[in-house]
Amino acid sequence: MKKTFSIMAVVLFAAAFATAQQPAKKLKVFISVDMEGISGLINWDETSQGGPDYPLFRRLMTEEANAAIAGALDAGATEIVVRDAHDSARNILPDELREEARLIREWNGPLSMMEGIDTTFDAVVFIGNHARAGTPNAVLKHTMSLSLFDVILNGVRLPEAAWNAAIAGYFDVPVVFLSGDSAVCKQIQEIIGPIETAAVKDGMGPAASMIHPRKAREMIKKGVAAGLRNLKAYKPYKPSAPYKLEIVFTDENLARRASLIPGVDRTGERSVAFNSGDFMEIIKYFRLARL
Ligand SMILES: [Zn+2]
Repeated sequence: MKKTFSIMAVVLFAAAFATAQQPAKKLKVFISVDMEGISGLINWDETSQGGPDYPLFRRLMTEEANAAIAGALDAGATEIVVRDAHDSARNILPDELREEARLIREWNGPLSMMEGIDTTFDAVVFIGNHARAGTPNAVLKHTMSLSLFDVILNGVRLPEAAWNAAIAGYFDVPVVFLSGDSAVCKQIQEIIGPIETAAVKDGMGPAASMIHPRKAREMIKKGVAAGLRNLKAYKPYKPSAPYKLEIVFTDENLARRASLIPGVDRTGERSVAFNSGDFMEIIKYFRLARL
């Protein structure tokens, strides 16, 4: 009996020592935050600097980013980067964002809403998203800008979130969570497969039925934590080479201008196409063509 106890004590001590020696497992999370899919928001005016209710909605946007950070920390995140990815890219209130995260503001290069992502990240989270242009019963639907009608990659019509998922996929990082209206939650999963989502509003034509922002934040926190805890289940979204990117503009003049870029084919009155075996070329082309 005594001998058994001694052996058990040694085993337990060894196990405790081994646990203490293990470095914390790295979990680096990239959170890209758009605004149209924030809970409570319904009108362009509310997303634009100068709009009378913009101060309220930029605070709610900041709070949804904070809910995602809280969920990431619950799941053991060791490093968190938040990308402000709407309009001016200067919406999130820096002093109200949780201090565990770094914040990327303003626009820079071709990665756009994903600026700052690289292969050192383990997971991507999307907050405040919206469906692609032309989607019925979707809140503030558009694709990147109001001058694009369609962005089609290898024959698949993409919402912004799927384009951003493909950028993350280029760096081998999977998307684990998306929040926004119910239309974009459905749309993203049809393209990249099942992920955790929080549908914070249902579009009703130009109107919407909303859940309370506090409830939305609770769903975001839980969903982000669940996605990160189940990280191994998600694969990076990597469309296969060779790549064909087609852009349909709302205006013929924009298609004409984009077709001036070497290597671009004019495929219709309002459309152009670009082919490459290198996805980074496709990313750069898209950034240039929609300027
Ligand atoms: Zn936006």
